[in-house]
Amino acid sequence: MAVAVSMADATRRFTSEPRKLLIGGEWRDSVSGKTFETYDPATGAVLATVAEGDKQDVELAVAAARKALDGPWAKLNPSERGRIVHRIGDLIMEHAEELAELETLDNGKPKGVALAADVPLAADLFWYMAGWATKLNGGTINPSVPYMPGAEFHAYTLREPVGVVGQIIPWNFPLLMAAWKLGPALTTGCTVVLKPAEQTPLSALRLAELIQEAGVPDGVVNVIPGFGETAGAALAQHPGVDKVAFTGSTEVGKLIAQQATGNLKRVSLELGGKSPNIVFSDADVDAAIAGAAQGIFFNQGEVCSAGSRLYVQEDQFDRVVEGLTSAAQSIRVGHGLDPDTEMGPLVSQEQFDRVTRYLSIGEQEGNRATAGGSAIDGEGWFVQPTVLVDAKPEHTIVQEEVFGPVIAAMPFSDVDDLARQANDSHYGLAAGVWTRDISKAHKLAKRIKAGTVHVNSYHVFSAELPFGGYKQSGWGREMGEEVLNNYMETKSVIVGL
Ligand code: ADP
Ligand code: MG
Repeated sequence: MAVAVSMADATRRFTSEPRKLLIGGEWRDSVSGKTFETYDPATGAVLATVAEGDKQDVELAVAAARKALDGPWAKLNPSERGRIVHRIGDLIMEHAEELAELETLDNGKPKGVALAADVPLAADLFWYMAGWATKLNGGTINPSVPYMPGAEFHAYTLREPVGVVGQIIPWNFPLLMAAWKLGPALTTGCTVVLKPAEQTPLSALRLAELIQEAGVPDGVVNVIPGFGETAGAALAQHPGVDKVAFTGSTEVGKLIAQQATGNLKRVSLELGGKSPNIVFSDADVDAAIAGAAQGIFFNQGEVCSAGSRLYVQEDQFDRVVEGLTSAAQSIRVGHGLDPDTEMGPLVSQEQFDRVTRYLSIGEQEGNRATAGGSAIDGEGWFVQPTVLVDAKPEHTIVQEEVFGPVIAAMPFSDVDDLARQANDSHYGLAAGVWTRDISKAHKLAKRIKAGTVHVNSYHVFSAELPFGGYKQSGWGREMGEEVLNNYMETKSVIVGL
C-alpha cells in the first residue's frame, strides 16, 4: 500500500511537534509527563506524539471548566455567544484542507471523503447551533392550583446551562464527533472537558486551537487526550462534572452509565448499531444496490449506523447480491491521501483484529463471501470490502456489530416476517427501506424500532436531524433541536401575585 503522498505544510507542522493538553486556555504537558503515539493506519508508522492525560489532568481541567462557567463566558449575551460559535464553523472551513489531512492521517479515511463529509458537516453543525443561542427561550405558564382557590400567579420557565460537561468521543469521525458534542454545549453556555479517542486525537486538538482563535474564553473548552480506562473513566466519574456525553461502543456506554451514578450526573449515550437495510422487489434496484454499498462501505464500515444487515425480497436477491458483489470488488482500497483511494484502512491494529476475527467466525459458521472475506496482505490495517451470504438470524455476523466493511445479505419473502427480523436486535440506531410503494415505506418506517429510518436513501446526516438510538443504541439524541435538552436544565419560577 506504500504510495507517495503529499500533504500541506500546515499538516506536517501540526504532526511534527508533540501535541499537548489544553487546560484553562494553556497548552501544557500532562502532570505525569507521559506521552503516547498515534499511527498512520495505512502504514502502521508513528504519526505524532501526544501528551497523555490522566486522572490528575482531568482534575485540573474540571476545575478550569468550573471556574470558566462563572467567568466572561457567562456574561456574553446570547447573540455574542452565537456569533463565536458561528465563527468556529467559519474557521473550520478556512482550514478544511489541513483538517481533512489530519483526519486522513490519523483515522485512515480517504481525504476526499473527509473534505466532502467530515469537515463541512462539522462546520455546519456549529453554524446550525449558533442560531439556537438566541432562541433558547422558556415559556410563560398560567398554573392551576386546586388547593389554593382564588390564588393568582405569574409563572415562567428559565433554561439554564447544565454546567460542566465531560465529553468522550470515538475515532471513526474524530472531528465531526467533537463538533456534535461541542456545538450544543457551547451554544447553551456550558463549559467542557473533551476527551478524544486515543487512536485519533489530532483533529480535536487542532479544532481546539481554532476554538481559541474564534474567541471562546479560556477554560470553556479543555481537551485531555488520553486513554479510556484512565482519562475517560476519571471524567465520567468526576463529581464536579454535571453531565457526561459519550459516543462509542455499547459495552463502554454501559460502563459510563455506571460511572456516572456517583453524583447522578446527566448522561447521554450514542452507541452501537446493527442496522437493517431493506430492499423490496418494487424498488429501483440499481439505486438500492448503490445505497446498500454506500451504507456499508462508507468510512470503511466504521460507522455506528452502517447498514450491516441487508434484507432483500427473494425474487431480487440474486441480482442485488451480484450487484453488491461487483460494487465491493471495484472499490479502490489504499492510502487515504492517494487521490484514487475510495476506501482506506481500518483505524488500528485492535480494530483490524476485531474485524478479521468476525470474518473467521463467519467462515466457521458457514457464511460464504461473494466478495472479499479477508485481510489485505502488506503494511497497514487493510481489509477487503466483504459481502457475506448464507447468513441465518442467529449467526454472529447478523447479531453483532462488526464496525468494518462487512455486510450480511439475506433473502425475505413476507413483510411481517421481515419487520420481525429487522427488529430482532439489541440495537436500534438506523434502518433503510428501498421501495417505490410510498404506503409500504411509511408503514414500515413506523414499525422499525430505530432512531433514523432512511427511505430510498442511506447515511443522510444533517445538523437539523436528530440522531440517536432506540434500545441499546443509546440514550438521548444528538443534533437538531433535541440535543439542546441534553445541555440545559429547566427551572420553573412561580410568583404569587
Ligand atoms: P472502541 O473499542 O471501538 O475503541 P470504545 O467505546 O472503547 O470504542 O471507545 C470510545 C471512547 O470511549 C474512546 O474515547 C475511549 O477512550 C473511551 N473509553 C474506552 N473505555 C472507557 C472507559 N472504561 N471509561 C471511559 N471512557 C472509555
Ligand atoms: Mg473499546
